[in-house]
Amino acid sequence: MPDVKLKAAMEEIKTVLKNYDICAIVLLSNQNGMEFLHELTATWTCARIQEIPGGHEIRIKAKREDFPTEEAHYKVLNDTVGTVFGFVDALQYSQEQMMGLAKMLGKHFEITHVTRGDKLPERAIAFLNQDICPDCKESGFIQGPRGGNSVNITCNHCGARFNVCLPWFAERI
Ligand SMILES: [Zn+2]
Repeated sequence: MPDVKLKAAMEEIKTVLKNYDICAIVLLSNQNGMEFLHELTATWTCARIQEIPGGHEIRIKAKREDFPTEEAHYKVLNDTVGTVFGFVDALQYSQEQMMGLAKMLGKHFEITHVTRGDKLPERAIAFLNQDICPDCKESGFIQGPRGGNSVNITCNHCGARFNVCLPWFAERI
C-alpha cells in the first residue's frame, strides 16, 4: 500500500517543481516504501507526457513547425538534451555510490539460509538485482542454462548457484 506521508511529500515536491519550472528525478524513501518521480516536462523542454492505454509515457515533441524560429527550436532541443544527459551522468554517479553502500551493508547482513528450491527472501533478491551475490556480497555471475524466463547463475566469487527470474524471483540450486 502506498505510504501516505511519502505521497504527501511527493505532492509538495511536485508543486515546488511546477512553481520554479524545473526538471527533477526524485526518489523518496521511508521505512514503509518508496516514491519515484520523473519530471522532465518543464516548459522549456520538449518532453511531454502522453496518455497511452493503461497509463502514460514521456514523449519528445519537437517538430520544427511548432516553433517560431529555427533558433527557438534548436534551443529547446539543446536544453532538453542537456538535462537528460545531466541526469544520466548524475544517476550513474548515484548508482556507483549506492552500490558501494549496498556492498558495505551486505557485509553486515546475513541472508538466512534457504534450502534448495525455496524462494529466496526479498532482501536476497534485491542483492541479486544489483548483480551482487547474497552469500559473499561480491559482484559478477556466470550465466548458465536458460529455461523459459529463468536462468541459472553461478557466483564468480564463491560459486553459489541460483535459478533466477529477476527482478522478482530467485531460488537456490
Ligand atoms: Zn558469491
